Formats: sequence, structure tokens, C-alpha cells
Amino acid sequence: MSEQTKTSPGRRVVVAGAGMAGVQTAVALREQGWTGAIVLLGAEPHPPYDRPPLSKAVLLGKAEGAAFDVDFASLDIDLRLGVEATGLRPAERLLDTTAGPVAYDVLVVATGADPVTLPGTADVPGVYVLRTLDDAVRLRPVLAAGRDVVAVGAGWIGAEVATAAREAGCRVTVVEASGRPLAGALPAEVAAHMAGWYEQAGARLLTHAKVTSVAEGAVVLDDGSRLPADAVVVGVGARPATGWLAGSGVELAADGSVAADERLRTSVPDVWAVGDCASFPSARFGRRLLVHHWDNALQGPRTVAQNLVLGPEEGPVYDPVPYFWSEQFGRFVQYAGHHADADELLWRGDPEGASWSVCWLRSGVLRGLLAVGRPRDLAQGRRLIEQGTALDRTRAADPSVPLKAAVL
Ligand SMILES: Cc1cc2nc3c(=O)[nH]c(=O)nc-3n(C[C@H](O)[C@H](O)[C@H](O)COP(=O)(O)OP(=O)(O)OC[C@H]3O[C@@H](n4cnc5c(N)ncnc54)[C@H](O)[C@@H]3O)c2cc1C
Repeated sequence: MSEQTKTSPGRRVVVAGAGMAGVQTAVALREQGWTGAIVLLGAEPHPPYDRPPLSKAVLLGKAEGAAFDVDFASLDIDLRLGVEATGLRPAERLLDTTAGPVAYDVLVVATGADPVTLPGTADVPGVYVLRTLDDAVRLRPVLAAGRDVVAVGAGWIGAEVATAAREAGCRVTVVEASGRPLAGALPAEVAAHMAGWYEQAGARLLTHAKVTSVAEGAVVLDDGSRLPADAVVVGVGARPATGWLAGSGVELAADGSVAADERLRTSVPDVWAVGDCASFPSARFGRRLLVHHWDNALQGPRTVAQNLVLGPEEGPVYDPVPYFWSEQFGRFVQYAGHHADADELLWRGDPEGASWSVCWLRSGVLRGLLAVGRPRDLAQGRRLIEQGTALDRTRAADPSVPLKAAVL
């Protein structure tokens, strides 16, 4: 019998990281009938909370926090806050932490990701990232003061920060090194239509603009120009928070993520990994995926819990259709699937209008879908991607035809 098999009442699961993925792991284990002990360790002092509201309601002061509505005590989950995992000794089944070693039978790594910062800005006042509740609470009064905000990076976080800052009445400039917003995620012909959203919202978007230095109160660009900045919000991506695993034997991928297998097991027996810190091989998309989105931090833990309770013979393989949403400039933007540059792009609706979608097809089969203000397209498209369905191109390109009615 492999070591990574079924539950037994005396076995103890330790979860390192009490964000969405860690909390969901603990909750899903109880839902699946895990009767052994569950210890949930989180580095932050706050009761576990959800991150998407941080760049939306929390940043605007419309919500104080976003704590998960979970009664850990009644689920018999031993939640330990302010405890950071610092190392792993698999041979002894010990997790080293700032509160001393913690013994485990099964360990689930759920330490999420850390925001990438701009070199040389650590000690500059007025430079912010947005990853934690503390980050949002620090930034909130700056926005409320309605002054000059420079967002560095026109990705998902940059767009949401710009949206909130404009709503708060700030003067907003977004500085983007590439030629368009969301350059890593979407092709130029799609992203080009999103660039206009910044201007419509009264934010200035500077593309092909690199930050060379940040001083208190100003951002200097590579063309020598100086942007006044009461706050500089850096949104240039996040890296898996896996540095503490160095020397543990847990294999990491080149991007720093835990290289999990198709059931989210790591290279070390009885150690699993979920959420933003882990990548997994997707048979569906034919490549290893590192997904930094909320839905992945919900679905992965369910797969791990099922595998732990049922054992790997009966436990499911993890091969989701990735999904995320973003709320920016008054629009609800959703994406499902995974597309490649070579996939065929099909428009549904006028991208200059209020709502439209884009489909990506490979050999006629739907692989990815971006929906702006068309949640029904997203819901239907996500199912069609799951099913690997081929679409009739003419019908799929007609926004008046429900996507599910475009199936061949
Ligand atoms: C501001 C913001 C807005 C977002 N909005 C959206 C959105 O609109 N839509 C969407 O799909 N996704 C969104 N996301 C992404 C989504 O929130 C993440 O994918 C999700 O939070 C990942 O969950 P996680 O538990 O893997 O990681 P995290 O949420 O990062 O949680 C990891 C936890 O582990 C703790 N930790 C780290 N290291 C250690 C350690 N060594 N020991 C113990 N604890 C440790 C951290 O303090 C943290 O609390 C957003 C993210 C951010 C930051």
C-alpha cells in the first residue's frame, strides 16, 4: 500500500497557510468525512479572509474585511494564527514553524503567493503592494484622500486598483512596460479594446513605459519624465511563496511553484500542495498550469480532500477548466479555459460595445472564452470547454445565439 492512501481516525493533517486554499482544504476534509485531527497554520494574525474583496469593497471602505464565514471550532479544526512554516523535515514528518516543530501524518502546503516588488523600493515611503488585508488597510486612507496614484502594471490588480482609485476621486496614472494592458494574458487585438477603458474612466494609461526609480512623491520613467505620486501601487505579479521549502526535497518547478502531480501530491510522500503555490499537469490543456485564481484555490482542495479520504485508487484526478473574474472600470470580466497563441480567435459581439465575448477554438473545439458583461456566455462556454465540444463558427460568432446552441 502506498503511503499516500486512505484516512484513518488517528491520522493528523497539518495545513500550512490559512488563505482560501488552506481553509478550503480543512473544510473539505471535514465535509468528506475526515475524522482525524486537522491543524491549520497561518502566518497572518487575522482570522482567515478572502482576497478578491481587497481590491474592491475593502479598498473603497465599503467593507471592513472579508473574513471567511467558517466556524473552525465547531468543525474541530485547530486554527493557529501568527504561525509561519519555516522548513520541512520529511524523514521525521515534522514541519518547522515559528512556534516550534509540528508533527504531521499528512501535510498540505497552501502558502499562496507573494507579490513581486520593484527593486530598490523597499524603504521608499508611499510604495504599496496589494496582497494582504494589512496592505489594503494601509492603502485605503491614501485613496480616500483623493490624491495622485500611480499604479505600476496594467494587469488584473493594476486595473482593479485604478478602478477603485478613480472611484475614490484620485488622479490615476497606470504605467505599463509592454504595449498594452494584460499583455501576459490576452492577445493584442483583444487587449487593445480594453486600453480604452482606462481613458473612459478618467485614468491615464502609459504603455511602453518603464519605471527607472521611485522616490518619495514621484515615479521616474525611462524617458526621464517624472510622475507625481502620493501613492505608488505595484501590481506586477506574484510568485509562489515556497522559499521556506528549500532543502526539503519537495520539487519545485522553474517558476517556483510546487510541482504537484495530477492528484496534487508533491514529490515527497504524504505532502500535497494546493492553490497559488502549486502547479499541476493538465491533461486537458497538455501542459503544466500555475493558476493564480480564486476558483483554483477552491477546487484543488476539494480534490485533495477526496483523495485523502478515498485513497488515490478512487480519488479524482485534478484537471479543471480554470476560471476567474475581474471587476474593472464598471465591467464584469470573466475568463474560462486556457488558450494558446495559435488558437483561432472568434468574436461574439462588438468589442467597442458594453458586452462582448471572445472564443478561442482549436480544430473547431472551444478551448478558452473571455466574456465582458456576458455571464451566460461564460457559464455555457465553461461547460462546453469541459466537454471538449466543437462549435459551428457562424452561430458561435452570433451573439444573439446562445453559445450552447452553437454546438455542432
Ligand atoms: C487583491 C487581490 C484581488 C483578487 N481578486 C481576484 C478576483 O477578482 N478573481 C479571482 O479569480 N482571483 C482573485 N484573486 C486571486 C485569489 O485571491 C487567489 O488566487 C487566492 O487567494 C489564492 O489562495 P491561496 O490560499 O492559494 O493563497 P493566499 O490567498 O495567498 O493564502 C496563503 C496564506 O498563507 C499564508 N502563508 C504564506 N507563507 C506561509 C508560511 N510559510 N507559513 C504559514 N502561512 C503562510 C499567507 O499569509 C496567506 O494568508 C485576487 C488576489 C488578490 C491579492
